[in-house]
Amino acid sequence: MKKILIANRGEIACRIIRSCRALGLKTVAVYSEADANAKHVDEADEAIAIGPAAAKESYLVADKVLAAANEAGADAVHPGYGFLAENEGFARAVAEAGMIWIGPRPETIADMGDKERARLLAHGAGVPIVPGSPRFMVNDNAGLEAAGDEVGFPLLVKATAGGGGIGMKRVDAAEDLLATVETTQNMAEKAFGDGAVYLEKLIDQPRHIEIQVFGFGDGGAVHFFERECSIQRRFQKIIEESPAPGLKREIRDAMATAALALTKQERYRGAGTIEFILAPDGQFFFLEMNTRIQVEHPVTEMTTGEDLVGLQLRLARGEEVSKLQQDSIASHGHAIECRIYAENPAKNFLPSPGPLDVYSPPSQGGGIRVDTGVRQGDQVTYFYDPMIAKLITHGVERDVAIEKMLAALDDFRIEGIVTNIPFLKRVLTHPAYLGGRTHTGFVDEHKDDLFKE
Ligand code: ADP
Ligand code: ADP
Ligand code: MG
Repeated sequence: MKKILIANRGEIACRIIRSCRALGLKTVAVYSEADANAKHVDEADEAIAIGPAAAKESYLVADKVLAAANEAGADAVHPGYGFLAENEGFARAVAEAGMIWIGPRPETIADMGDKERARLLAHGAGVPIVPGSPRFMVNDNAGLEAAGDEVGFPLLVKATAGGGGIGMKRVDAAEDLLATVETTQNMAEKAFGDGAVYLEKLIDQPRHIEIQVFGFGDGGAVHFFERECSIQRRFQKIIEESPAPGLKREIRDAMATAALALTKQERYRGAGTIEFILAPDGQFFFLEMNTRIQVEHPVTEMTTGEDLVGLQLRLARGEEVSKLQQDSIASHGHAIECRIYAENPAKNFLPSPGPLDVYSPPSQGGGIRVDTGVRQGDQVTYFYDPMIAKLITHGVERDVAIEKMLAALDDFRIEGIVTNIPFLKRVLTHPAYLGGRTHTGFVDEHKDDLFKE
């Protein structure tokens, strides 16, 4: 394995290039018309155009990405996150074309990409799942009313194929169930090509805590501890950290044990994340498994010192990473990641694309890391996710990491567009955040403090 095609753009493409370089691997970027001058194109050894700006005509077209990989003579494909990363058909096509797919087996992607099937597999591995229902297909809602009553209200209607916070709707009363199920089914059919939904009990004021796992593909696996991702908007994470503040050791260990049981049962290959929600009473439940590198993986890299993308690459090229022992993995200090978005929190987090007239990130080192896919003068366009950068800080304790984050956010200068930086600072200085009193409804609960002018 000498040459890797990176089927992605932005910060994660740049991040993957960095680990490839460290391992002496050549890189091939792909780019749309909007990204011809993008940072990831500059940084890769080669770059191949794959079509118009719209992702549906470029980054999401498996055939075009595959043709680029063939043209470049790549030996392997790294998908990053989003786009084709959890596309079973693409993973299969890469392997059938004689290239290495840097990710789990296609069957695993399919199993875990279907949230309802994943729940059953998790249950089979002895992992607690949220009380819920079987699936309901479009135009086939027989038994829905009884299922709703059994799960109880409030509940969530979830698209089995959903992801990225999309395809989830809360229902508070039985009389609204059918209408919401039908809307979600239609929406999921359009967005994911699969309208199936299921019901899940809504856990009140939970924390989102996930375990980073790494499987060797032979039933062996290790974990890299937890990340807390409770600070969210629209079911999407904006601040993540590790360790989870105040999490009892027994709960953390039980979550890691459960995550490893599922990872081993699936003979999982590569980096993955098992997401849980933790109820205020200390009970935790499986949410889903993400079969790829996660946006917030740098938090874990800062606390454990492991290069997770490097580990993916080394497994793919046949190194014996299965010699990695659990007791050689330790977490030190505390790390926090803030996702810096081109968006306006005061306008319901509406994306705010535009020119980066000034883009000057804080200097890196001393426990400060910046992962980005842009430079001064670039445009944030409405074609893609409006995340501009990830700012990660590490300190011996949580307070130190928070202080570093606040200082680094002060030093982060972006002009030309509206960003969420002032909002992030308000979260990080809020007494409830400082006290570790986080839950997924944090932003809503404290909206009066967080959205003041
Ligand atoms: P992570 O799970 O890594 O913390 P996100 O949940 O924010 O991060 O998802 C990572 C990226 O993948 C985001 O850009 C998100 O929009 C995208 N994504 C994930 N699943 C889907 C999906 N099924 N459909 C569309 N986009 C998705
Ligand atoms: P996605 O694939 O979009 O990431 P998840 O199932 O991981 O979907 O859920 C995303 C977020 O939605 C969680 O982090 C949490 O905030 C919320 N959520 C999901 N399921 C539940 C639930 N049963 N009860 C309460 N909140 C939930
Ligand atoms: Mg999730």
